[in-house]
Amino acid sequence: TDIQRLLLSRIRDVADYPEPGVMFKDITPLLADPEAFTALTEALASIAEDTGATKIVGLEARGFILGAPVAVRAGLGFIPVRKAGKLPGATLSQSYDLEYGSAEIEIHAEDLSAEDRVLVVDDVLATGGTAEASLQLVRRAKAQVAGVAVLMELAFLNGRARLEPALDGAPLHALLTVG
Ligand code: IMP
Repeated sequence: TDIQRLLLSRIRDVADYPEPGVMFKDITPLLADPEAFTALTEALASIAEDTGATKIVGLEARGFILGAPVAVRAGLGFIPVRKAGKLPGATLSQSYDLEYGSAEIEIHAEDLSAEDRVLVVDDVLATGGTAEASLQLVRRAKAQVAGVAVLMELAFLNGRARLEPALDGAPLHALLTVG
């Protein structure tokens, strides 16, 4: 579609970042273009409405940039999932494996309730580890999963398959798919 062409045209490929052999998808040109950023926000907000979400969970750091305007646009609350040690209140923590080592993310569980349906928003789905851990946090907070929505899915990393158990039938929406 025209919107997909616009979004794709504003994503920059950066070779060998953050390490040799990786082609990094840089969304900063998209953020700098008000037409593209607005189109992206509206597309994600319409997914949020279609899934019946009541809350947007955004993943540090680029999921904050995308998730917050989506929440405002769709009239929903926003809840940050942060790297360990950044949230001041009582948190739930989830660790997950990276290619080398592991990472830990946290959420303020009291901001979710059993009535909430959560849409997890991020810029790029790569291996799916971050989104999977986020869904585990949402479920441990006793909220429902409305789905996951990303700007771009890197299909060759098979994140979609990794996410399937945690999604448990909820949708994964990718506005763009590469590979
Ligand atoms: P995953 O856990 O392997 O799916 O990695 C996803 C996380 O890393 C997301 O929070 C993304 O923001 C980030 N990420 C991975 N690859 C890229 C990329 O090429 N561009 C931007 N962010 C990326």
